[in-house]
Amino acid sequence: MAKRDYYDVLGVAKGASADDIKKAYRKMAIKYHPDKNQGDKEAEEKFKEAAEAYEVLSTPEKRQRYDQFGHAANASSANGGGYGGGGGMNMDDIFSQFGDIFGGGSPFEGFFGGGRQGGGGRRVARGSNLRIKVRLTLEEIANGAEKKIKVNKQIICKTCDGSGAKDKSSFQTCKTCGGSGAVRRVTNTILGQMQTTSTCPTCNGEGSTILSKCTVCHGDGVVRGEELITIQVPAGVSEGMQLSMSGKGNAAPRGGVPGDLIILIEEVPHETLKRDGNNVIYDLHVNFVDATLGTSVEVPTIDGKAKIKIDPGTQGGKILRLKGKGLPEVNSYHRGDQLVHINIWTPKALSREEREILEKLQGSPNFKPNPGKNEKSFFERMKEYFE
Ligand SMILES: [Zn+2]
Ligand SMILES: [Zn+2]
Repeated sequence: MAKRDYYDVLGVAKGASADDIKKAYRKMAIKYHPDKNQGDKEAEEKFKEAAEAYEVLSTPEKRQRYDQFGHAANASSANGGGYGGGGGMNMDDIFSQFGDIFGGGSPFEGFFGGGRQGGGGRRVARGSNLRIKVRLTLEEIANGAEKKIKVNKQIICKTCDGSGAKDKSSFQTCKTCGGSGAVRRVTNTILGQMQTTSTCPTCNGEGSTILSKCTVCHGDGVVRGEELITIQVPAGVSEGMQLSMSGKGNAAPRGGVPGDLIILIEEVPHETLKRDGNNVIYDLHVNFVDATLGTSVEVPTIDGKAKIKIDPGTQGGKILRLKGKGLPEVNSYHRGDQLVHINIWTPKALSREEREILEKLQGSPNFKPNPGKNEKSFFERMKEYFE
């Protein structure tokens, strides 16, 4: 594959200033960064291509040579490790440029979480994510809930305020890297001087060393502790759903970025109501006399009791729908329904009197089952139920 023009790759003009080239590359690097485009081969190629272009155009000698000879300048540098060769730059080379391009404390570090191995510049440690379970009743799910939970986790050491040092004076700027967290190595190549940046081995990229460590956390800046965390659970969540609270996970050593708190939702089964998506199902048992004569009964709902009417001649298997008495959808105003499933209850034990009354009715023409056209079949009811 023929190499694209380096100026085209970065989208800058031939005479672009060093600053413009840097800006253009920064944009590309963010756009095609592998952390943002996981598994995207095309993005990775673009990312490498941009890095290679920047490597050349940001070094005056190389840029001059490139302007003069174009990609042909590569031919003489096959072993030189300059800016070409078959494979282009490897990922570690690319990330080692970032110390120069993005500097410390740039939004870039926050964006990607920092702490990439082998990168130059100040390393930002990241606390690990923490997972907890939260059990919710159906009522809590319906209305949303505020849960205060004591979480056992890594918290910032109060004694040293997370610095890991005994006091301010025990902090010393790293002598190896002068506080930048990165060390540069200059090597002479056929194309001139090549500069590589890597993490400072003395301070491990932190930019400073601790002469005497905090006696409580032993220099970590974090200790095991408890934090009371208030979790706002939105209405309508369901079993297995995960919520995430950014920065509420484990604290990071020495002033790094804390991890996230991942909250796994669990449902406490309700005594009488059953959840089906956003609908709530209730099994109502009505004795055959009430079903025949009609009555009104109270049924439980998420919002308390509701009175419903049983029409005379109600058949078993009928489903009554209480509109809007179900569960809300997350981030929506729509609410499901409560479905009351009517079962006809047949008495199992009878007194002598009851038996005599019923025996008189047995065989009466009105008691002979005669499902007419208006009676819904089991199949029709199920269809209605799932609509
Ligand atoms: Zn401490
Ligand atoms: Zn250092």
